[in-house]
Order: sequence, then C-alpha cells, then structure tokens
Amino acid sequence: MKSAIVLGAGMVGVATAVHLQKRGWSVALVDRKEPGRETSYGNAGIIQSEALRPYPMPHSWRELLKIATGRTNDVRYHVASLPDQVGPLFRYWWNSFPTAHARASAAYAEIIAQAVGEHERLILESGAGNLVRRNGFRVLHREQAMFDAEAAAAEALREAYGVKFSVLTSRELQQAEPALTEGGVGGLHWQDPWTVSSPGALVSAYADLFTRSGGSILRGEAQTLRQCHNGWSVVTETGEIESEAVVVAMGPWSPELLKRFGYRISMVRKRGYHRHYAGGGPLDLPLRDAANGYVMAPMQNGVRITTGAELTSPDGKSDPVQLTYAEQAARKLIDLGRQVEPEPWFGTRPCMPDMLPVIGRTARHEGLWLNFGHGHQGFTLGPTTGRLVAELMSGEPPIVDPSPYRPDRL
Ligand SMILES: Cc1cc2nc3c(=O)[nH]c(=O)nc-3n(C[C@H](O)[C@H](O)[C@H](O)COP(=O)(O)OP(=O)(O)OC[C@H]3O[C@@H](n4cnc5c(N)ncnc54)[C@H](O)[C@@H]3O)c2cc1C
Repeated sequence: MKSAIVLGAGMVGVATAVHLQKRGWSVALVDRKEPGRETSYGNAGIIQSEALRPYPMPHSWRELLKIATGRTNDVRYHVASLPDQVGPLFRYWWNSFPTAHARASAAYAEIIAQAVGEHERLILESGAGNLVRRNGFRVLHREQAMFDAEAAAAEALREAYGVKFSVLTSRELQQAEPALTEGGVGGLHWQDPWTVSSPGALVSAYADLFTRSGGSILRGEAQTLRQCHNGWSVVTETGEIESEAVVVAMGPWSPELLKRFGYRISMVRKRGYHRHYAGGGPLDLPLRDAANGYVMAPMQNGVRITTGAELTSPDGKSDPVQLTYAEQAARKLIDLGRQVEPEPWFGTRPCMPDMLPVIGRTARHEGLWLNFGHGHQGFTLGPTTGRLVAELMSGEPPIVDPSPYRPDRL
C-alpha cells in the first residue's frame, strides 16, 4: 500500500488526506494542533462559488492613495513589515494588470467551479449537513459608484459562467434582513454560495470522516521533516513515522518549512481578524458591508465579524484597528449585542503573488508534494485541490488541468 504524510490539518490538508485515502493510500495527517484550529477556523465560512476571479491589487492612484493614507478599511499596512513584503507585493501588483489577471482568472475559475460540488460530497459523507446553508450571502453598498461597479462585474460573471445573483434595492435589502437599520443604496444577493455556521466544525467533520475510514491524525512538528531511506520522516508525539510521499499543506507556514529544502517561495500574507457578538438582532445570511470592508456572518457562537487585509509580519502583534472600525460601523447597522471573546482572533490568508495556489510535485525532491497558497478562498477550495493533488499523486486523470498551479512556475 502506498503511504503518505500530510503536513497541516486545515481545510486543505484534511481534504487532501481524505482524497488520498479514497485512492487507497495509507495516510497520516500531522499537525501541532487539532484539525481546523488556525486559518480554516477563523474565516467568514463562505464557500465562495461566485469568486471566479481572484482579488487583484488596485492600480488606480486614487485607490492606492486611499490605502497609503489609511482611508480604507479593506487594506491596512505596517511600515515596519514592508521591507519583507515589498517584493511579493510588487509581483502581486504586476500580476493584477488585466492580461495577467485574466490568465489567473481563467485558471482560478476552473477550480472555483468545482468547489460547491466537492464540498457537497464531503458534507454528505461526513454527515455535516446541519452546519451548512445553501442560500448565498448578501452585500450592502453605501456608495452608488461602487454598487454600480459590483453589479456590472456580477453581470459579466453571469454572462461568462451563469453565476446567479439578484440586485436589491435598499428597501428589498431591509425586507430580507429586517434587523438592519438601513439598506444603504441597495445591494446584491449572491445566490449560489454556501455558508457554514462554524468553519472549524466543518473541518473537524471532514477529519472525523478521515479517521472513521482508518486514517490517523497525529500531533507533531512539521519542522522535523527529513528525507530518509524509505522516503520521508516526521517526529510525532507517538514517535517517528515514515512514508514514501509527503504533502505540505500548511497554509501560511508552508514557505518557512520549504526553505530548509532550498525552495525560496514568496507569499503575500494578508492577516484578518474576527470576533463574535451575541444577544443582538438576528442576521439571516452573511452580509458584506462593502464600503467598510468587513463581513458579518451568523455563526454558532454569535455574529462573527471578519476584517479585510492587514499587511504585517507573520509574528507582528495583534493590532485590530480594522475590527474596531468594522464593529463601530456594524453597530450603526444592527444591534450587535455583546462581545463574546475578550481578545479578537487573527489569522493569515496565504496569498501567492500570481493569485493561484501551489499544487503539485516539487522539482528537486522525489515524493515531496505541495498544496498551499489558497489566499482568500482556501476554505472554498480545499476539497477541490485536495482531490487534484491526490489524483496527481495517484496517476489518475486530474479533475482540472493542473499546469497553472505547478510549483516550478514560482
Ligand atoms: C478573516 C478571514 C476570512 C476568510 N474568509 C474566507 C471565506 O469566507 N471563504 C474562504 O474560502 N476562505 C476564507 N478565508 C481564507 C481561508 O481561511 C484560508 O485560505 C484557508 O483557511 C487556508 O487553509 P489551509 O488549510 O491552507 O491553512 P490553515 O487552515 O492555516 O492550516 C494550516 C495548518 O498547518 C498547521 N501547521 C503550521 N505550522 C506547523 C508546524 N510547524 N507543524 C505542524 N503543523 C503546523 C497549523 O496548525 C494549521 O492547522 C478567510 C481568511 C481570513 C483570515
């Protein structure tokens, strides 16, 4: 029987382990924490089938000036972290020009288009249907120009991919969400995405499916990875384990590990914060407040507010200015109730400079496979790219053309 170690038990690693197991591999899933306790725990919980084009960086001077002068809550940066970020950010900016972005979007759309179907299979098999709603999410706009631009972009997606959405007047938005104090200038209802009431619990459900089917989940430190006679070995709490293949699926921590093997991989790290609020007015579906750069989503622990991107160093201390601003804006929109956690959560979106995840075998190491860099949509994409890497490792026809994601492009 072929054997593999999967390093990282977020949405991406867990789904990779499940898909390898389905193809007859003996799999050990290794993480220093329980499954789904990092980035895959703290996100907005939207399976974003509408996100067929990855987020480009703005090119207009007006937008860039807004970021530089701190006049947007979407993006914030720390000057001290810029020397490390400037190279990857420049490449991200360069790849955001229309031709490169269209190329990335064509590849991105291929995997996003599979996302709901791939989750659906795992949701059914893991019995996690109670965590999932299939009614999409809404967006509230406060500026007519921004609203018109998003409606036009949505129309283009409908024409290209058949994405379903409706444009809502201010009144229709308030009718749909009666707890809102206002409907802005109107909004959108993206109808196809699915949403979950606890992202971490969905990862746990998939991890339970994996163990029920004979897989083992072990606590261990990925930095102990080394090549050995039989392939690869890692030290876990229960001892050293070996396998013929290893998959690095450690989200934002992946490049650090790969440095040890001579791979210098640049990544744009976009930190986001969240906090829950309980005892306030009810919210039916997740709502993005476009002008204020946050999402609020009804979750098991209350309404979860998640923020946009903070460009900071990986070990930079918590500085939840965007969350404070988002909370103030949300309190004008809805009775939020009380803060649930004393301190906000934060985690990092692992974004590649060309906006595509890294999936496939490394060039110089037999049996060393990668599946990371899913940026803003790793919760959405985990089951699809988990299947893709498992198919490649098993020599099966892949679900999509894997060439745009291959590691040697970096
Ligand atoms: C605020 C916010 C909102 C978001 N909203 C959405 C959304 O609505 N929809 C969506 O699709 N995506 C969303 N995302 C993005 C999404 O959460 C990520 O892309 C995704 O969770 C990445 O999953 P992952 O499995 O690659 O990484 P992770 O979930 O971070 O998993 C990596 C794992 O590696 C383990 N690990 C790290 N280092 C080591 C080590 N040395 N040894 C052992 N184990 C190690 C960690 O413990 C962790 O379990 C959001 C992100 C943020 C921050």
